[in-house]
Amino acid sequence: MAEHPDPRSRPRRLPGQRQTRQRSTIYEVIRTAAGPLTVPEIHQRAQREVGGIGIATVYRTINLLQEEELVQAVILPSGETRYELAGLGHHHHFSCRSCDEVFDLPACPVEIPRNDVVEGGFVVESHELTLYGVCPACVETPAASG
Ligand SMILES: [Zn+2]
Ligand SMILES: [Zn+2]
Repeated sequence: MAEHPDPRSRPRRLPGQRQTRQRSTIYEVIRTAAGPLTVPEIHQRAQREVGGIGIATVYRTINLLQEEELVQAVILPSGETRYELAGLGHHHHFSCRSCDEVFDLPACPVEIPRNDVVEGGFVVESHELTLYGVCPACVETPAASG
């Protein structure tokens, strides 16, 4: 986990044809986020950088970035789809029930090692885990969220 290079730390030139401003803006929005983002969140943040960017462009660009394996979808247990950089390595997500933001958590609280055999003879190869609670900002200002 520790030796995994963090893709966040290396802004990379996107391969392919035209490096449009919209496209690199969307990639940067995803790269610099604190956790996986929904399409409306990506749209909103990209619009701050490039006015007039349409939601259809956001969807199309995310699809291209996924095809190029620069971005991947995260589907939360709620069924909500969010997007994050591909290749972030093993991590988990924390969903704030107050502001609805989702954050990356670097720590893994699961103590079952890979390929461990658990009760009943099940060989564990991987796990997914989403934690729920209140993020630091919402802990500090509980009134702001209602
Ligand atoms: Zn929060
Ligand atoms: Zn884990």
